[in-house]
Amino acid sequence: MENRKNPSICCSVEQCMHNLCTEHFCTLDQVHIDTHESDPSQKECVDCASFIKRQNFC
Ligand code: SF4
Repeated sequence: MENRKNPSICCSVEQCMHNLCTEHFCTLDQVHIDTHESDPSQKECVDCASFIKRQNFC
């Protein structure tokens, strides 16, 4: 089945297998946003926990 972009989730992380690289959108219906900090204070503290490393090229 062809992956379709979720127009509500813009993402430029091409290294993720869920990314539609040609358009820079996520293809999942929803994503889990998380933090690796105990008290996040800036955007660098926040991560997409749905990221999975892509095994092939975009
Ligand atoms: S799962 Fe997260 S990192 Fe991967 S394409 Fe979707 S929003 Fe981007």
